Amino acid sequence: MFNLILFGPPGSGKGTQSDKLVAKYGLVHLSTGNLLRQEIADKSELGLEAKKFMDMGRLVPDSVVIGMVDSFFEKNKEAKGFLFDGFPRTSAQAVALDELLHKKNTEIATVIALNVSEDELVKRLLERGKTSGRSDDNNEGVIRKRFAVYIEETSPVADHYKAKEKYFAIKGEGELDEIFDRLCVVIEQQMA
Ligand code: AMP
Repeated sequence: MFNLILFGPPGSGKGTQSDKLVAKYGLVHLSTGNLLRQEIADKSELGLEAKKFMDMGRLVPDSVVIGMVDSFFEKNKEAKGFLFDGFPRTSAQAVALDELLHKKNTEIATVIALNVSEDELVKRLLERGKTSGRSDDNNEGVIRKRFAVYIEETSPVADHYKAKEKYFAIKGEGELDEIFDRLCVVIEQQMA
């Protein structure tokens, strides 16, 4: 299995690049944000609870997200690799992910971060908010809160993988295809 984490702040292009990467490498896309939005659309109890946190720009509790990832693994036993997008977002989630993958006799191969300036991120999210229908994208206060949460709770996750020499960063600005090519260079070096 080849398991990849696409890392970076909200608006850094993880979702867009994930779609291209899963098509090229045949990985299964695991976006916890998408799974949570599906729970909300289904009006499940989990979705209704998660929505309260998401609308404030806060993280959904670790236990909820980890449980969701565990059941996603159960439903995708044949996957030849996963692309994690928006997960793990806390150090506790990173530890839990290691454990879940260990049970499947696999591990994270590579983490690639998309580096984008904060001004560019705000611009992209407000633009996306006009069409995405995501209530957390069209309010600058909520966007700023999501960045603060990213710096405080999510950026330490990088250290978890730096310690294992699995962490790489690329420039996440420029043309979509240029960014995609930069990602592919790192992935193919790590696959080799
Ligand atoms: P995203 O689509 O990845 O930007 O996620 C949208 C929102 O869903 C986030 O702002 C969080 O409220 C929630 N969320 C998504 N993934 C996670 C996660 N791994 N841990 C906690 N909350 C999450």
